[in-house]
Amino acid sequence: MKLTEHFTLDKFTRSTTALRLKIDNRVPDELMANIQLTAIKLELVRKALGKSIVITSGYRCPVLNAGGGVSISSHTKGLAVDFHSSFGTPK
Ligand SMILES: [Zn+2]
Repeated sequence: MKLTEHFTLDKFTRSTTALRLKIDNRVPDELMANIQLTAIKLELVRKALGKSIVITSGYRCPVLNAGGGVSISSHTKGLAVDFHSSFGTPK
């Protein structure tokens, strides 16, 4: 599912930890608006940087997030995203 020009929902929910531990990291319907907003903001960051962005962690369900030590974070609300920016021209 495409959220914005460059970001899909899959990129926001993909987690190797969730796959390994068989954690269902799908976004609940009530948080989809937050994910959409975060994607729109991330597009602005991408534009400002002028570089491609790779999401390392977007949405994390509470169970997945607890593995990181913090039980509640903005990631569990769909309002945070960790990323790195690659070198070179945006794709
Ligand atoms: Zn984070």
